[in-house]
Amino acid sequence: MKQKLNYAKKHWPGNIAKNKTYQQQMGSRNSMSKTDPDATFMRMKEDHMLNRQLKPGYNLQASTNNQFIANYTIAQTTANTTTLIEHTEDFIEGYGKAPQTLTADAGYGSDENYTYLEDQNIEAFVKYNYFHKGQLDEKRGKIKKPFAADKLFYNHHTDTYYCPMGQPMENIGSYIRQTATGYEQKIDRYQAKNCCGCQLRSLCHQSKYNRIVERNHKLVRLKAKAKQKLLSPEGVAHRKQRFWDVEAVFGNIKHNMNFKRFMLRGLDKVNTEIGLIAMAHNLKKVSLAI
Ligand code: SF4
Repeated sequence: MKQKLNYAKKHWPGNIAKNKTYQQQMGSRNSMSKTDPDATFMRMKEDHMLNRQLKPGYNLQASTNNQFIANYTIAQTTANTTTLIEHTEDFIEGYGKAPQTLTADAGYGSDENYTYLEDQNIEAFVKYNYFHKGQLDEKRGKIKKPFAADKLFYNHHTDTYYCPMGQPMENIGSYIRQTATGYEQKIDRYQAKNCCGCQLRSLCHQSKYNRIVERNHKLVRLKAKAKQKLLSPEGVAHRKQRFWDVEAVFGNIKHNMNFKRFMLRGLDKVNTEIGLIAMAHNLKKVSLAI
């Protein structure tokens, strides 16, 4: 026991101080590499060790225009959703103006991103989660989860939902939800008046009380707008272009240039390294065009 106490007295102050330093270096991230404190642990698509372990890495964001890299940023987060605003701001700072249009895949479709793009007057062709699945289900005439909140009829004039039994669900209030980035979303709540004895109850909800549905009306509007844009002839053309535009750039860098791992460590050095790669890629494109 005395031995353990002595060990703790000797090592704990140093370990606590070391831990504090790690916490500071990590900031708002939930992981960090000790060998490169700027790198965050991520699951790699291309796993050279073939063991599906998390590895320290950086999240490269690139905007392309006709297969030329127009802008790049390095993010330290694993999710793409939280990188769009910073990347677009970086583009605006570099070019002195916002892009006229922006096409991105479903990883970027969020309330915060749609709102930002709308505020910046950028014509957005950005998919949201389940966009393709929804299209497929519509094509096949499938109605999945017919009791889900988004399948319920909503009356805009009276601000009332109607449950599958036709019972009005009135607004019982709202609350503010904060996302990981601090963005605030207003969530409205609607409650059925009497679920007691309803024959559909087992299919409708699991709650002991009357059913409550929550809706983010702003997101519903933004998703409807995104869907309309994505399904328009212009939207279809932009979605097709995304494949041969940006994906071809990543293909060239990874496979033709064989650049699959950063050789340097630290955010600044990694930024420089990818900058050189981007320049090489663009110069190669120019030389091929001449
Ligand atoms: S369980 Fe409640 S909310 Fe669901 S259908 Fe019946 S009355 Fe409506």
